Amino acid sequence: MHDSHVHLTTQPLFGYIERALENFVNQGGKHLLSCANDLETSFQVLEIFENYKIKYPNLIQNAIGIHPEEFHPENNCKTAVNQISQLKEILKNNSKNIHAIGETGLEYYNLLNRTDIDFNEREKAIEEQKTSLREHIKLAQEYNLPMTMHSRDEKNCEFCTKDIINIITTEGKVSLKGVMHSYVGEEKYLNQILELGLYIGFNGILTYKSGKNVRELLKKTPIENILLETDAPFLPPHNVRSDKKRTIKFGQPADVLEIAKAISEIKNLKIEEILKTTNENYERLFLN
Ligand SMILES: [Zn+2]
Repeated sequence: MHDSHVHLTTQPLFGYIERALENFVNQGGKHLLSCANDLETSFQVLEIFENYKIKYPNLIQNAIGIHPEEFHPENNCKTAVNQISQLKEILKNNSKNIHAIGETGLEYYNLLNRTDIDFNEREKAIEEQKTSLREHIKLAQEYNLPMTMHSRDEKNCEFCTKDIINIITTEGKVSLKGVMHSYVGEEKYLNQILELGLYIGFNGILTYKSGKNVRELLKKTPIENILLETDAPFLPPHNVRSDKKRTIKFGQPADVLEIAKAISEIKNLKIEEILKTTNENYERLFLN
């Protein structure tokens, strides 16, 4: 059982990391992809890896990258060129401990419909995100690494999904490997993403009342293209959020078993089969 997308550097999970890793291993967890979202957390994931590599050999794989939200106007107008040049240095100096590039992608949610920023600020943020994504793709190709990508549109919009598919198709061509993590977009784009040979990461949203769209996407996704993920500490499965006896209300990697159970129910397949195939998928993508 593997968790293909978790933010160990994000609070409150960061403060609970020792227990979280122990819980994951006790639950049968074998691998997890520890994802960064900026330069600081890119260093941090490598530190966490160093701290636990003796206690839990091969448990943690690392992904370094800049989350698209970093280019939203409130984040001090960071530029992609500057951020990427620093990211390149981290990659160059630590390449043997880096297994993936990300999280990167495009995030138009909370950007397109805002009234507190003007047209130019919005366009600049979008351009920086696109430049950053293209540069992440180049890095992934140069180091032959898979990518973990994020795409989130404003409600009832599909600009973000369209743009990300366009960029991947133009820049990534055939050599791009990776996962569209937490995909919640339109079903019509799902096939295009699958045709690009990408995996789809499913998480706790599957267990939410509001997750009907994602449950439909899951039904349409072949099991050979599915990865389990928690996106912890975000998106705890429904029963974690609603269990009154549980004191830990945030997500943790051990919750990936709940995701596997949900997939097993929705797809009407045995949980053993879900675990076996998603394990193989993770290993093919991140451990090669
Ligand atoms: Zn994430």
